[in-house]
Amino acid sequence: MSDMRVRFAPSPTGFLHVGGARTALFNWLLARKQGGTFILRIEDTDVERSTQASIDAILQAMEWLGLNWDEGPFYQTDNFDLYRGYVQKLLEAGKAYKCYCTAGELEAKREQAMKEGRKPKYDGTCRERDDYLADRPFVVRFRAPQAGEVAFDDLIKGRIAFPAEELDDLIIQRSDGTPTYNFCVVIDDAIMKITTVIRGDDHVNNTPRQIQLYEALGFPVPKFAHVPMILGDDKARLSKRHGATSVMAYRDMGFLPEALINYLVRLGWSHGDDEIFSREEMIRKFDINNVGRSASVFNTDKLLWLNAHYIKNGDPAQLAGLLAPHLAKRGIDPQCGPEVAAVVRTLQERAQTLEEMAERAAFYFKAPESYDEAALAKFDKEHLRAVFDAVAGRLETATAATAAEIDALFKEICADKGWKMGQVGQPVRIALSGGSQAPGIGEIVVTLGIGETVKRIARARETVAA
Ligand code: GLU
Repeated sequence: MSDMRVRFAPSPTGFLHVGGARTALFNWLLARKQGGTFILRIEDTDVERSTQASIDAILQAMEWLGLNWDEGPFYQTDNFDLYRGYVQKLLEAGKAYKCYCTAGELEAKREQAMKEGRKPKYDGTCRERDDYLADRPFVVRFRAPQAGEVAFDDLIKGRIAFPAEELDDLIIQRSDGTPTYNFCVVIDDAIMKITTVIRGDDHVNNTPRQIQLYEALGFPVPKFAHVPMILGDDKARLSKRHGATSVMAYRDMGFLPEALINYLVRLGWSHGDDEIFSREEMIRKFDINNVGRSASVFNTDKLLWLNAHYIKNGDPAQLAGLLAPHLAKRGIDPQCGPEVAAVVRTLQERAQTLEEMAERAAFYFKAPESYDEAALAKFDKEHLRAVFDAVAGRLETATAATAAEIDALFKEICADKGWKMGQVGQPVRIALSGGSQAPGIGEIVVTLGIGETVKRIARARETVAA
């Protein structure tokens, strides 16, 4: 194990967003690559907006993506005493002070600053006071150093510097005694000995304040990597209005975790022209320094392409397990019918999502209730009867057991009767599946089984060819 320690620190105020998942992935990859430790920390200090349902949803999404963590989940609400202790330390060292300004006073000062064209900033009224107002509510502010600049070398964005005078005296404890977000993050990252903080670049402005806090508390400052945002196709920040943003919505739409992970790693990071990465390859090749500085646009077509790739090359037994809930959604009990892995084998070549696969697989489990009239209309009833009788007759005595053998048997029937393959294959495909879009005829027959095939042909003969 190396000393590298990274963390993913979601706020449980909703589901896991694909942007959050990518941040988690980058952290995970770095830890796995360097033999480091990946920590999961739930930032639930916003008690009003944090919910158990969101925590569960985030953990479930992390597990589904296979982003296993080594320590945690830790919850910030378990650490309130710890944070208060550090607030006290800063107060005693004179590095923080009690501020008695009321919300009304602060608002008036803010408006005044705006009117005068000044950047609103706490004016320091309580910074220098030494009287203690026992009967008045107070917040605790950090006495932010005002001279020089606060700079850091971001692993993705390069050097970033902020003039210290622009940095406010941050409130670190509210009047109700609860610690504020930026303060908790610093204490946790320090206590957890985080060596590299990888997070969304919406936090860049928090970083200089946090660095000042690390320094005031005497903690080593970690490295920072701020990951650019993910945008929708109109270049606005990816949101619900662009389509699904929740990781689990992608699962429900029939995406494989491998495909989503592979898609997300390429969103902002590249390794030559490579597009397909197994987890091992990702771990080996990922380098946080090669993450691009600009925002990336989410491209659903590319995700679909990757998904099709992973379905096509997936292990049928494993895909069968993932397909089961999509079948259940259609009222299909995967226990009743052919072996699901065999069904998958006939469909994986062409399905882009598991939803699409489930849609196409339904006929294996449920005999057709109706038949594609337009496709049937190409054949007269007499021909249909002849085909159904010939095929059922041959199948009943057949010993053929593989798709290739069944295909050969259909060829023999064609040769015997002087029919073209389409004249036989199409009617039988319709009899078996209801439609004409289905896998090869040999594959269908073998997967359905001869008994069920003959039964369905008999039913079609009665219904459409009588
Ligand atoms: N809880 C913050 C968020 O969900 C992350 C903060 C951090 O990574 O430092 O945006």
